[in-house]
Amino acid sequence: MLAVVPHPVTVRVPSKVNLHLAVGDVRPDGYHDLTTVFQALSLTDEVTVAVADEPGVEVVGENADAVPTGPSNLAWRAVQELARFSGRDPEEPRVRVVIRKGIPVAGGMAGGSADAAATLVGLSALWRLEVTRDDLARLAARIGSDVPFTLYGGTALGTGRGEQLVPVLSRHTYHWVLAFDRRGLSTPKVFGELDRLRAEGAPPRAGAVEPVLEALATGDPRQLALLLGNDLQAAAVSLRPGLRRTLRAGVNAGALAGTVSGSGPTCAFLCADEQAALRVAAELAGAGVCRTVRVAHGPVPGARVIGGEDAP
Ligand code: ATP
Repeated sequence: MLAVVPHPVTVRVPSKVNLHLAVGDVRPDGYHDLTTVFQALSLTDEVTVAVADEPGVEVVGENADAVPTGPSNLAWRAVQELARFSGRDPEEPRVRVVIRKGIPVAGGMAGGSADAAATLVGLSALWRLEVTRDDLARLAARIGSDVPFTLYGGTALGTGRGEQLVPVLSRHTYHWVLAFDRRGLSTPKVFGELDRLRAEGAPPRAGAVEPVLEALATGDPRQLALLLGNDLQAAAVSLRPGLRRTLRAGVNAGALAGTVSGSGPTCAFLCADEQAALRVAAELAGAGVCRTVRVAHGPVPGARVIGGEDAP
């Protein structure tokens, strides 16, 4: 009798921007406590998982050659976690993962984490596992602190290392322009630079998170724009001084405000509406301050099956 091979499953997964990112002082274990507000954006990756005799990861799209395809790829870590969870051999999963990158690599937009979240959702459909999103979130937190957020999407308050999430009421669709830099920035290096800046002086700190949550509840992008804050921005700008020029160019082009996204170097500009975002994007693209410009909106849902078997 012929075994039935399930169809490949494709999942679309969002990137994130941090509307607020407050970083605590370095702890004895080297980590920092974070208080952050994430928003999931329509700039996405697509991940296809399929049963295959030649297991592994393949990456296509912009900057694909900067992404490892071996066991350090976060998508492969997700394959191994879910294999272990479902009683399969984590060293020999007969699975192929194809990642189509739309999210900049090492861009502060959680691209690798997003691929891990997409793989968890795709594989649980491929293997027909009876798992809830909360089950997957527990596995996700083991892979990386941004993985649970890209699984749920929307807008959320994150604490701990960013993996403890509470959904946030958000009334509006916000329109963003994203400016990608020519090269990525390493997240650990940016945290290290923040520790150094803090040892030497007092780089600016984001204010309280409550006003950000109130602005999201009212849905006024102008109010939110005044409150965008990211403790990692000073460190990212210190490592990549050209970002100062990019941030200024976005605001001069008509954005309400600009912020470095997470650990950078992507700059995210909040705009009044979709038309304003298109105008800002066109002007910024001509300003010669970044590699590529994209428009995106948020919040959008987390990792979702778009082709193949049904999602959990
Ligand atoms: P974060 O915002 O979560 O700090 P990031 O968006 O700045 O992360 P990623 O795109 O996730 O950065 O990549 C960081 C590093 O992780 C890359 O330089 C790459 O070596 C590694 N990596 C592992 N898996 C992936 C993946 N699937 N996609 C992109 N990078 C990956």
